[in-house]
Amino acid sequence: MINYFLRCLGKTQLALALVLFSVCTLSVAQAESLSALHVNGLEDGVRLGEHFQVWHDIEGKADLADAIAAYRLDKFSRLPSKGSTGLQPGAFWSVFYLHNDSDKPITLNLEYVDHQLIYLNAYQRNTNDPSFLEIADLALNNSFSERLVSHQRFVVPVELAAGETHQFYFRFGSDEKGFVFPDLRIWQPDKMHYVQSIELGSIAFLVGGLALMSIISLVTGIATNDKTYYAYFVYAATKLATWPTILGFTHMFFIREDFHWSYMSLTGAMSIMTGVIFARIFLQTKVNTPRLDYVLRFMILNAALLAVAALTRETVFSVVLITIALLLYPMLAIASLIRWYQGSRESAVYTLGWTVLIVGLFSQALRDLGLVEHTFVTYYWPVVASYSEMMVIMVAMGIHLFRLRRLKEQAELRYRSQLERAKQELEILVSERTHALEVAKSEAEREARTDPLTGINNRRSFMAKAEAMFDSCRNRSHPMTMLMFDIDHFKKINDNHGHAAGDKALKKFANTLESEIRDGDVLGRLGGEEFGLALYADLDTAERLRSAVERIYVNTGVVQIRFTTSIGIALMQSEENIEQLMSLADHALYEAKDSGRNKAVVANVA
Ligand code: GH3
Ligand code: MG
Ligand code: MG
Repeated sequence: MINYFLRCLGKTQLALALVLFSVCTLSVAQAESLSALHVNGLEDGVRLGEHFQVWHDIEGKADLADAIAAYRLDKFSRLPSKGSTGLQPGAFWSVFYLHNDSDKPITLNLEYVDHQLIYLNAYQRNTNDPSFLEIADLALNNSFSERLVSHQRFVVPVELAAGETHQFYFRFGSDEKGFVFPDLRIWQPDKMHYVQSIELGSIAFLVGGLALMSIISLVTGIATNDKTYYAYFVYAATKLATWPTILGFTHMFFIREDFHWSYMSLTGAMSIMTGVIFARIFLQTKVNTPRLDYVLRFMILNAALLAVAALTRETVFSVVLITIALLLYPMLAIASLIRWYQGSRESAVYTLGWTVLIVGLFSQALRDLGLVEHTFVTYYWPVVASYSEMMVIMVAMGIHLFRLRRLKEQAELRYRSQLERAKQELEILVSERTHALEVAKSEAEREARTDPLTGINNRRSFMAKAEAMFDSCRNRSHPMTMLMFDIDHFKKINDNHGHAAGDKALKKFANTLESEIRDGDVLGRLGGEEFGLALYADLDTAERLRSAVERIYVNTGVVQIRFTTSIGIALMQSEENIEQLMSLADHALYEAKDSGRNKAVVANVA
């Protein structure tokens, strides 16, 4: 009996079934007289309706004779529910009469209304005839070629001669526990095949849609390298296998010989597993709802065990696992609601998709428990809900993709502006450094040009500038004067007052000359206490400078030192270069020294 229960596990009504099972038992109503259903061979799916009665063989071991005996004892009765026996062990026997109203022999197809059935046995007799004929011995696990009519559900063809009334016993059997809908649809065979082709076309449409969605998702996965799409691809592909298997099409078209009802369970388990895996990835529950994520992981493990149990046909274990799986199903809706609350817009859409599925499964549970009629609508509702769920999730993934793209664009923008900022900062740093280098360089150059003690040009710099002045003056025939200074008796200053006092005197000397000369004049220390001055001016400057030096006081702190300078002067005339001019000035300086010091002597020009 549990086998039968397990068989239903691909369809997720069982959780509710288990909950509601206790309140839905088959109460046997009082038997009523059974009237024959009048048929004429043109039937298009009319159901037995009130024209049949049912007897529950709890052990499942009764044969036709037992059923006939039970009928005689008035044990048969109308079903109290809306078509389902509820979850029951054993087998159900159904009895009914058909009367051919027409004046011709007719053939009719009697179709069992649901796909969930393991065994169907049928017996027929003309009411004028005491003995029954077995007209069908069908089993779900048998080769599909043994079917009397090629149909995804059990169909039994019957023949009725004109004006005859026939009695039928149908046995709906299961190995373990299961739902039985002991009703039959009656068809003129061509009409049945017509409706079957519409049904097939509709299923092909849904399966094609699922295939398309799975392929789109696979391609998107490859393009974006986002594992959400791979997960959806697997989920959709599993559903692609599940529904045709559950509805009987896999048996009809693909696994005709060795089909087993556990394949329904197996594909169902796979759908649960891949659905939860997809949800974990899509909702990112590991990061966002870590505690719920443990529940989802447990669901995956549970579904995997369920698949193993289905493969090994471990019935009792399977029943426990499927019950747990289905009771936990709403957890996904809760997880997606939380994600929605956390601000994930696509989770809102996902919640809708998952809710559609749960409503579909709920409707199936109600149907299986006999609380709503077993009609084409309630029969296909779960399938369509499952398909709609996939479509809605596809939309959610579209939103997901859109959001990813926006995030990527935002990140790129941020990255670019950061890059721009870094570039600007680098440029500022580089220009700062360049400036500092330039300052250091010009400082170094200035130091290379400058006499460290006095701060005026050193010899090298003086020579360069004086040479430039010389060239320019000669080119423009402008007068130029070269003065050479040598402080008188400087050695004595050092000797008498110390070297520091001598330095002080040198500084003061240089400062005094510098303050007396004009811009453009070039002053330099040539070495020791010797200085040079190149200027555009005339001889008067030398005298003015000489007397300015005379007025210098150097305060040593103890005494005030005074000193004088001798000056050699050379006026540029026909000299070839600055050295010649300087040599002239130098000679004049010696003359000044020789002739008593503290005087300016103009060089004699030959
Ligand atoms: P004269 O009037 O003949 O020029 O006599 P003088 O003592 O000035 O000449 P001399 O060339 O004999 O002495 C120059 C002195 O200058 C010798 C040296 O010690 C001193 N001297 C040279 N450079 C420096 C310096 O940078 N600082 C100090 N304090 N003394 C210096
Ligand atoms: Mg000297
Ligand atoms: Mg001197």
